[in-house]
Amino acid sequence: MNTKKAGFNTKLVHAGMIEDQFGSATVPIYQTSTFRFKSADHGAECFADDTHGYIYTRINNPTIDALENLVAELENGYRAIATASGMGAVNTIYMALLSQGDHMVSTAAVYGPSRVVMEKHYSRFGIEATYVNTSNPKDVKKAIKPNTKVLFIETPSNPTMDITDIKEMVKIAKEHNLITVVDNTFCGPYLQMPLDMGIDIVFHSVTKSMNGHADIVGGIIIVKEKELYKKVRAMMVTLGCNMDPHQAYMVIRGLKTLSLRVEKCQENAKVVAKFLEDHPKIAWVRYPGLKSHPQYKLAQKQMNGPGAMISFEVKGGLKAGKVLMDNVKLAILAVSLGGIETLIQHPASMTHSKMDKASRESAGITDGLVRFSVGIENVEDIIADLSQALEKIK
Ligand SMILES: *Cc1c(COP(=O)(O)O)cnc(C)c1O
Repeated sequence: MNTKKAGFNTKLVHAGMIEDQFGSATVPIYQTSTFRFKSADHGAECFADDTHGYIYTRINNPTIDALENLVAELENGYRAIATASGMGAVNTIYMALLSQGDHMVSTAAVYGPSRVVMEKHYSRFGIEATYVNTSNPKDVKKAIKPNTKVLFIETPSNPTMDITDIKEMVKIAKEHNLITVVDNTFCGPYLQMPLDMGIDIVFHSVTKSMNGHADIVGGIIIVKEKELYKKVRAMMVTLGCNMDPHQAYMVIRGLKTLSLRVEKCQENAKVVAKFLEDHPKIAWVRYPGLKSHPQYKLAQKQMNGPGAMISFEVKGGLKAGKVLMDNVKLAILAVSLGGIETLIQHPASMTHSKMDKASRESAGITDGLVRFSVGIENVEDIIADLSQALEKIK
């Protein structure tokens, strides 16, 4: 069926589907590294223009194509590029857009490794970056230099839950001729659509809510315009960080229930955030669905919902936070987020431990901050679990 004009949930189930000779109801896994050409001329045609047929799985593959077509339709992009992991997407984007002597402005509290790879490794090749609180447009303007090429943002930021005004970033980028990139992993396409707000490139770690079942890692990049798409695609193929057909199949399967899962996680998260905010042992809670969030209004305007990620600090800082993490039984003490299972982790010693302490502190990632990803379990059970673990703090 042609899903171009269909609603979001219909697209999740039907977009990108391929019709094969057997009438398969799902996308088959084309577990092959290479594809037979019909003739020498056909092989040459495939290399000249990828619409003539498949060549080699690092370049293209029907299962991966199905996922890319589905996600490009969801996000209203020209086309999508699936990658081996979210970091595969980050590096493909950096490598495609930045050359020696170039500069990037980025959100201070981005996903830890997105910043570490830039500051530790791209710096070795003469590429520099300035990290600022992009929730404050004035700081973004101040950081732009004559050699700035890219504005790379993450909103809500990880794990501080600061919201960046996407439309405001697009305006600033236009004035300075910058390419805009949004890490949309926290929200996914169900909660936030940056390409519709004028962003050039969006990417996700599909490991998180898009796949949603904690059983694969993967990434995907969606590009708004054809020329930029071609540049990014060529870089992914050359870097060799392509997704595998089996991974692609798993993500297609996970995506079918994206709306249902995100809605349920979010419904639970609203209750959990309120519980934490009212709890005497909690110092503060950051959740875009709470009125206490400093950018509650912006979150309501820009996002289709507050999502299922909550950051908070227990009174007594890291020491008390450790007691909580060691005593939860339902919540899994593990990194990652956005899945059907509730997860708890400690950014300063886990996901953001490779960032230096000064950068961490200036980004607002305090030693006591605990990150909580709410799943689809019964919310009374999630709360009972938190309650009993919080009671253990003396
Ligand atoms: C997990 C994550 C990444 C990296 O993705 P991987 O699939 O682990 O490589 C990037 N950005 C955000 C916001 C993430 O949560």
